[in-house]
Amino acid sequence: MPPQPTILIVGGAGYIGSHVNKELTRRGYRTLVLDNLATGHRDLVRWGEFLLADMNFADQLRLIFRTHRIDAVMHFAAFSLVGESVTDPQKYYQNNVAGTLTLLQAMHEAGVRRFIFSSTCATYGIPTTIPIPEDHPQAPISPYGRAKLMVENVLADYDAAYDMRYVSLRYFNAAGADPDAECGERHDPESHLIPLVLAAAAGRREAITIFGNDYDTPDGTCIRDYIHVLDLADAHILALEKLLQGGGSCVYNLGFGQGHSVREVIETARRVTGREIPVIQGYRRSGDPAQLCGDASRAVSELGWQPSRSDLEYIVRTAWNWHKTDWTRE
Ligand code: UDP
Repeated sequence: MPPQPTILIVGGAGYIGSHVNKELTRRGYRTLVLDNLATGHRDLVRWGEFLLADMNFADQLRLIFRTHRIDAVMHFAAFSLVGESVTDPQKYYQNNVAGTLTLLQAMHEAGVRRFIFSSTCATYGIPTTIPIPEDHPQAPISPYGRAKLMVENVLADYDAAYDMRYVSLRYFNAAGADPDAECGERHDPESHLIPLVLAAAAGRREAITIFGNDYDTPDGTCIRDYIHVLDLADAHILALEKLLQGGGSCVYNLGFGQGHSVREVIETARRVTGREIPVIQGYRRSGDPAQLCGDASRAVSELGWQPSRSDLEYIVRTAWNWHKTDWTRE
């Protein structure tokens, strides 16, 4: 029997990468997790082999590709704070663009030609149609979104020139956690809505601030498309299998297609946790579109993706379970 494929997970000590690592392992793949632990966590790498290395250093990558037989690379290693990318674009272009080019160069030299890339709905900018299809114009409004779009463009050129096959997955709002609470979201500082709402529910923060209540939405707060991290993990594995079976390069939206407002998220968290959640009404956060919802029908029809865990209540319940477990480790 041929050996199971080996997948290099770059940034596998982070939120989404750690869930994909668990799922790949469960399905019998061999995983190598490369992470510099800048934002990742060593204790989230509970499966596969851990390689403490930095994709920005070509020598480290060359050594890894020389000493391991790697069938495909999944790339999660990126800074992902939109606001920070505006104040410190160098950090984003250096790591998210230049670092990715260094990784692609090492793959190219080693003859590894299958690549799964974590892209984002932030490449679309302000949507002109909702839900957003993949062929919506890409006009990002932040260095974060521009850096991701640059890599998407690089990948299209590498496909044409070097037969590098890739799948770019444009995530909407990744949320929720492993129902066994073996991995989950842990950012420092935290800026995402659901972990902050749950921290307020636990009394670890005084309140949650709602950024703006005068948007053109039914309750005035922003609407986002929350997608469970395990549904994302499924899509990564389907995309990987497409490439391993000789499929061509492609781009997919990964969203649930059903938006929820900030107020709905808070109400759901009140219900799930049974706790008071104090709210402060704040100003709009700059760069926030009123509504972001993805049309993921292409991933459904072409990959056979069936997001089944992205009900908001389940997302919040698994996140709450994870955070409660994680807080006891502090
Ligand atoms: N949000 C909020 N208060 C917070 C954090 C976020 O009202 O403390 C809102 C934010 O304006 C956005 C939504 O929650 O409309 C989701 O924000 P998040 O940062 O989680 O993800 P993003 O949509 O920016 O990727």
